[in-house]
Amino acid sequence: MNAFTVDVEEWFHICGVEGPLATTNWPNLPSRVMSTTRQLLDEFDAAGVRGTFFVLGWVADRYPLLVGEIVAAGHEIGSHGYWHRWVHTQTSEEFSADLDASVRALAVAGVSSVTAYRAPEWSINDRSRWALERLVRHGFHIDASMAPVRIVGRVSYPRRPHVRATWAGPIVEAPPLVTDRLGHVMPLGWGWGLRMSPPRRVLAAIEHANRAGDPAVLMVHPWEIDPDPPRVSLPARQCFAHYFRLGGFLDRFRTILRAATFVPLGELLAAETRPT
Ligand SMILES: [Zn+2]
Repeated sequence: MNAFTVDVEEWFHICGVEGPLATTNWPNLPSRVMSTTRQLLDEFDAAGVRGTFFVLGWVADRYPLLVGEIVAAGHEIGSHGYWHRWVHTQTSEEFSADLDASVRALAVAGVSSVTAYRAPEWSINDRSRWALERLVRHGFHIDASMAPVRIVGRVSYPRRPHVRATWAGPIVEAPPLVTDRLGHVMPLGWGWGLRMSPPRRVLAAIEHANRAGDPAVLMVHPWEIDPDPPRVSLPARQCFAHYFRLGGFLDRFRTILRAATFVPLGELLAAETRPT
C-alpha cells in the first residue's frame, strides 16, 4: 500500500515571495482552491482512492464547507499550517501559534482530531528539527515534511517511513518518494519531478519500493491540475517548481492514481511503519 496526499492551498501560497503574493494581498487574489480541490475529489472518487488532505488553515477558515466535502468523501484531514511559512524561518513559539491557528480553523470546519502534519515546502529540515517535538506536544502522531533531497532537505534522510524520537515522545516521519538519477537524488512523488515523469516511471518506482517492503508517499496540489492557472512573475526556482510541465499533468496524475493502491497515511503507517 501507498499514500497519495494533497496539500490543499491556493495557487498563490508560495513561501518567501512578497509583492503581489504578500500575505496581506491574499484576499484580493482570484481564488481557485474550491474548484480545483473539488476536481481532485472527483479524480480520487473515480479511482476509488482515499487520501490524506493537508489543508492550510487559511483555506479552512475561508472555505469550511470544502473541508466538510473532503471529510464526507472519506479522506483523512491533516494540517498544512495556517500561513504557509517555512518552518525553518519561524521561532518555535511562532510555529506553535501557526499550528494552533490551523488546528482551530479545522475544528471550526468540523474536524475534531488532527494528528498528521505537513510543513509548507518540506521545511522541516536540519534547521528546524525542533519542530518535531512541538508537533508531538500538540498531539500530532505523523509528520510528512522531511524530504530526502538537497535544497529543501538532505539526501541522507531515510526514504521509508520511520520513527523519530523527540523529548516529548516519538513521531512517525513519512518522507515523499524520490529516485536516483544521473548521480543525484530527484523528487519523483511530487512537484516538478512528478509532473515531468512518465507514469510508467513513477509506477515502476512505487513497485520497486513496495517490493522492498516500503510504501511510497506521493503528493499533489490542487493548483497543479488547474487547466488555466493564474501566473505571476516568480524567481527562477519558484517559477520552475510551480509552472514546469503543468500541461497534460492531469492525465498523467490520473493514470498513476488508478494504477497503484493508495490509502490515507494514518492507515498506511498503522500497518507498515517500523522503528529504525
Ligand atoms: Zn504548501
